[in-house]
Amino acid sequence: MSEKASVTDKGAVLLGKNVACDAFDENKPLRIVTHAHADHMVGLQQSLRTCKKVMMTSATKDLISVMLGPLFLMGGSVETLDYGKTTQFEDERITLHKADHILGAAQVSVEDAEGTRIVFTGDFRLEGTPVLDADILIIEATYGSPSCKRPFNREINDLLVSTVKKGLDHGPVYIFGFHGKLQEVMQILHAADVNVPFIAPERVLHVSKVCEQHGMRLGQLLLSNEKEARDLVERNSPCIAFYHMGSRNTVDRDAFRVYVSGWEFNVPCRMISKNEYVIALSDHSDFNGLIEYVRRSRPQQVITDNHRVGHAQTLANEIHKRLGITAQAIPHR
Ligand SMILES: [Zn+2]
Repeated sequence: MSEKASVTDKGAVLLGKNVACDAFDENKPLRIVTHAHADHMVGLQQSLRTCKKVMMTSATKDLISVMLGPLFLMGGSVETLDYGKTTQFEDERITLHKADHILGAAQVSVEDAEGTRIVFTGDFRLEGTPVLDADILIIEATYGSPSCKRPFNREINDLLVSTVKKGLDHGPVYIFGFHGKLQEVMQILHAADVNVPFIAPERVLHVSKVCEQHGMRLGQLLLSNEKEARDLVERNSPCIAFYHMGSRNTVDRDAFRVYVSGWEFNVPCRMISKNEYVIALSDHSDFNGLIEYVRRSRPQQVITDNHRVGHAQTLANEIHKRLGITAQAIPHR
């Protein structure tokens, strides 16, 4: 496989001579953070200490500052790069492109002196992501198995809205998801004129404020431990509380609860119990979306990211079988 691209055992996606994405690598002077999810911020402190530059979009920088604290990124030389703007480092040209995933998410392309275009998709959902022409493509593999197909798409937002409205008839609704996805849910509900107060704990609220600063429209938000918010919940008034998935076992077990998760393939809305639903809202491509990206990108070689959760080996096999393109899951396991 090419020496121009790889994925290390620690999860660094190496592009060309200089760039390591999403984990620290001691041999690369440039670190890129494709987006502010934890599995893409691996070894960030080390990168800040030792890399010449740590690059990301300004939205990702703002999200990291609220997730890890405002001082965290001060420890190094951080450079923000807008989508589509190219920066030169030695004889390589580096560009970030939009990835439809969470706010600020980017794909990375590196073009070397020989004109080889090396592309890393990062995490993405095909619908809103421009497909980049690549010679060597490194692609995420979260839903890289043919068993991970979602035969539904458009109706998800409507189902989310109707499920939440059903819950609001009886009082507060709790929604659980990951950072970025929660804010997407807020945006969907706000756009659908669900105008009850939104409530969120501090971290979720701060992430939401960053999303608003970068152009998302989320509606009125209250801090969950403020009196006004506590009163709403205690009086059983219609309101929506947004919590990180990690809090699902600690927050009001008896309330009407909605989980948003991409790991749902059979039905767009699944009832767990009378007051508990899972909505299949994903910020990743399903299997068909991953294959479609590769097909349109027309690379000579593909590497599937076998460090992060997913089906990298299966995806590599399927890419070779369906498209006739050389593909490998790296790192080898
Ligand atoms: Zn992600």
